[in-house]
Amino acid sequence: MISEDRVRELAGHRGSCVVTSCYLDVDGRQHPRHADYEAQLEHLLREAREKAAGFGSEAVRSVSGDVDRIRDWVRGGFDRSHVRGLAFFSCTADGFFEVVESPLPVTNGIAVNLTPHVRPLEAILQAYERFAVLLVDRQRARLFRFELGELTEHTEVFDAVPRGEAQPGHPAQGSRGSHVQRHTDEIAHRHLKHAAEVAFNELQQRPVDHVILGGPSEVVAELEGLLHPWVRDRVVARLVIATTAGPDEVRQAALSVEAAQTRRSEAALVQRLRDAIGTGTGGVAGLEATLAALVERRVDVLLVSDGYATEGWRCRSCRYLGPRGRKCPVCKNVMDLVDDVVEEAVEEALANKCRVQIVRENADLDVLGRIGAVLRF
Ligand SMILES: [Zn+2]
Repeated sequence: MISEDRVRELAGHRGSCVVTSCYLDVDGRQHPRHADYEAQLEHLLREAREKAAGFGSEAVRSVSGDVDRIRDWVRGGFDRSHVRGLAFFSCTADGFFEVVESPLPVTNGIAVNLTPHVRPLEAILQAYERFAVLLVDRQRARLFRFELGELTEHTEVFDAVPRGEAQPGHPAQGSRGSHVQRHTDEIAHRHLKHAAEVAFNELQQRPVDHVILGGPSEVVAELEGLLHPWVRDRVVARLVIATTAGPDEVRQAALSVEAAQTRRSEAALVQRLRDAIGTGTGGVAGLEATLAALVERRVDVLLVSDGYATEGWRCRSCRYLGPRGRKCPVCKNVMDLVDDVVEEAVEEALANKCRVQIVRENADLDVLGRIGAVLRF
């Protein structure tokens, strides 16, 4: 399965020969028959062989082995109920072969390069932050986890109001009635406190980035006051949704909150970059300045507009990246032309443990040159 650690590990792979990176969309809703995506795969694999030719005979042999191995894996069959995209990273010469199964679709593509092409995986991970959905009413609470577009598990808390006490349809009367009402309010309050504790414990064990609350608005408001600050600080949305909601309804609600949250985080980060540039030393924008900062290991967060790709140069000996070749300005050795220096920059940043943010819809970053970095120092 796909994870941040796995992507970083892949980004850090350095072998003796080229790596074939192959992304295949196997989404059952788009390709109901195996033959559909198998035909797509053949196109991609042909492309891989063509690309290998540019790297010499050893690469051609290795990629030929990659092609066979990827084809065999796909024909061997896999569980399509939870897998909508596949990513293969193979270098037969080094005996390296990794398959990443994605619960989200990927765009078909193939790359043959000295390092694995991991940007699409990184984009998937970022697009789907971890959420918890906590649904409550006066006697029931349900906690869901929402990761990579799917609800993954849930915990249930049920504190029944004792039978005959202020159930709907039992209107309470007089002073005895208000006493009963107070009593059931106390029980409901204890239940919400219990739910808040369970949520905190669960989310301490496996943390999330954001919390969505759902239920009748007055119950949600009471619950929010009882939440541990760690949980409360992560609340990004309050929805009117029943505790009896089906998984699909909960998932749809989480998806829409998530889309809004992603846009907000991206905008905040681009603003942080603009402010950093404004200080004169805290940030850089544009390809040349950003690549230079990366080589100098000054990057804290790398921001890239989704889909931005451009040719550039990489030094064989010192790994310097630059927009112009062919002589390395650092070590004076010969540099190689690379199809997409932006991809190289992302891999370099991941390998150096920088945060990388692929920004989907932000005109401000486009104006800055589609790439930029907030600097460490
Ligand atoms: Zn160099």
